[in-house]
Amino acid sequence: MARINENFQKLPGSYLFSEVGKRRRAFIDAHPDADVISLGIGDVTLPLTPSAIEALHRGTDEMSRPETFRGYGPEQGYAFLREAIAKADFGERGVRIDPDEIFIGDGAKSDTGNIGDIFDLDNKVAVCDPVYPVYVDSNAMAGRAGNYDPSTGRWDGLIYIPGTAENGFVPGIRDIPVGSTPDIIYLCFPNNPTGTVAGKEELKEWVDYAISNRAVILFDAAYEAYITDPLIPHSIYEIPGADECAIEFRSFSKNAGFTGLRCSYTVIPKRLKVGGTSLNSLWNRRHSTKFNGTPYIVQLAAASVYTPEGKAETRGLVEYYLENAKIIREGLKEAGFGVWGGVNSPYIWLKTPGGMSSWDFFDYMLNSLSIVGTPGSGFGPSGEGYFRLTGFGSRENTLRAVERIKKL
Ligand code: PLP
Repeated sequence: MARINENFQKLPGSYLFSEVGKRRRAFIDAHPDADVISLGIGDVTLPLTPSAIEALHRGTDEMSRPETFRGYGPEQGYAFLREAIAKADFGERGVRIDPDEIFIGDGAKSDTGNIGDIFDLDNKVAVCDPVYPVYVDSNAMAGRAGNYDPSTGRWDGLIYIPGTAENGFVPGIRDIPVGSTPDIIYLCFPNNPTGTVAGKEELKEWVDYAISNRAVILFDAAYEAYITDPLIPHSIYEIPGADECAIEFRSFSKNAGFTGLRCSYTVIPKRLKVGGTSLNSLWNRRHSTKFNGTPYIVQLAAASVYTPEGKAETRGLVEYYLENAKIIREGLKEAGFGVWGGVNSPYIWLKTPGGMSSWDFFDYMLNSLSIVGTPGSGFGPSGEGYFRLTGFGSRENTLRAVERIKKL
């Protein structure tokens, strides 16, 4: 008799974005003439760069001719892309990462969701709170999170490291609950949803902690391209010792607009061993068994990001969203809000006024200003009383939304 994985039945419904959509639709139905602006989205809105489009056309032409057609490629990714990444994203920052330590994937969502395959179910997993929900849900599906308690919004088998106004939404080892010792620690900087970044000292503390507790850090750097402050590390491997204790995830979604095209990569240094076993070899085995490679033409487009033209064009996309984020951040500050993020990140995290709950503020923004954002409580219990806006909208809508907020 077949049985399902009952861990799936423990998952609460994907409440956040479906509830946001439901309330938005109900508002539009009741106010068909309302000019609703969405600053809630985590998806990009600008089209692909000319370099990426040229690469896609070139790749498509190659696929149309017998002499240049390509079928299955290497599961780990084509050498041309892995070499370009090793050189530009790491070598040029003084970090040695070899091409065979890089695995090309189809998105950081899949990569961060799948990495759990190579870890025992008994590992104690720590997540920051608020958090990108994929880390929590993928561990819950695997049976590593215990049971969900709707009254607290927490899984009893996970360790939650709270991000709060007190720690500037940059949780550190001092914030690990007393008596808990994680084996696996998810970190995400620049952070979604709070938009905060971790400096060298803060990351060094995590790396030192992981080494002394023989823990592994899963470092999600999907928003690395948004770092403009020269003192903020772009990679965890800028911290000495990180190649012994950390896996890093990157994505082409938010820098080059690949949210619809799909390309990412995972870095697993060969020095990273758990109980004497190389995680690079384990992941290689997993990846080549369950994944048959990112499409050739998509990898060509990803490689275009590292050409001089591609770099400049990608920078242009990131600067556009950063400028939007700055407009929102400054506007909110002027209107008297407590604000985090929005500098080295497309995300702006704000304190709801007058102690309103995240959802009450969502309703207030929608009903009074026709602006859609994302309630902070949807990212974890510590997000209650906060709200996320993003710089991924159009400039025009961003300016109009901020004018509305300032008139509150
Ligand atoms: N990691 C974080 C923190 C994200 O916010 C997102 C997307 O919003 C992803 C990963 C997923 O990115 P991708 O499009 O590469 O799957």
